[in-house]
Amino acid sequence: MSLKENLQHITQNIPAGVALVAVSKTKPTEQIHELYHAGQRIFGENKVQELLKKMEELPKDIDWHLIGHLQSNKIKYIVPFVGLIQSIDSAKLLQLVEKEALKQQKLIRCLLQIHIAEEETKFGFSEKEVIEMLDSDIFRELKEHSKTGKGILICGLMGMATFTENQQQIQNEFKQLKSFFDTIKYTYFENDAEFKHLSMGMSDDYLLAIEQGSTMVRVGSAIFGRRNYSAE
Ligand SMILES: *Cc1c(COP(=O)(O)O)cnc(C)c1O
Repeated sequence: MSLKENLQHITQNIPAGVALVAVSKTKPTEQIHELYHAGQRIFGENKVQELLKKMEELPKDIDWHLIGHLQSNKIKYIVPFVGLIQSIDSAKLLQLVEKEALKQQKLIRCLLQIHIAEEETKFGFSEKEVIEMLDSDIFRELKEHSKTGKGILICGLMGMATFTENQQQIQNEFKQLKSFFDTIKYTYFENDAEFKHLSMGMSDDYLLAIEQGSTMVRVGSAIFGRRNYSAE
């Protein structure tokens, strides 16, 4: 099947309220272009350098999402144009991005990445760390600043399930994240229409994630085919 057919297959599978992020990491700009012409506008990359390079070569109305760990020395390069940083994985990083956004007079939208998987290696906040941050002065100040139209806006949560065949476990992890999303939405963002994204679900589990309340799926290999890292 062509990339366009893969894309159509997935968009037919997902409800209208769920956003599709086409994860284009390691894939060439020609393929992104092909999908752009098929109507796709949101693309996700996990490396700042790669994102910058592709952005320069591609149409300006692409909505670029950063979905991988952001190193502090790279923040200044993406603040000018990133559509959504899905991978804010610590209070420290949240503050650093806000500082740079204020400096560049921008409003940056972000998601807090929550650690839901069993694996030790995945980045992210624990639920406890999120609550601590939301109860702290850090959050109060962010909110004050963002009212001026500059700084950082927390627009939801992102999570990645454990890499396993066990569908029940994946389902439970998504369920847990959705429940946490609802809890903090109610407690901290009740009148905040911007806090609305729950980014969960990838090629192998996006249908499961949507069943559990995902509003944004990040799909790479089911559109582009398998990634070949050894060829890079
Ligand atoms: C690579 C990646 C994806 C896409 O993975 P696929 O299994 O290829 O769909 C989604 N989210 C994040 C954070 C990723 O790094």
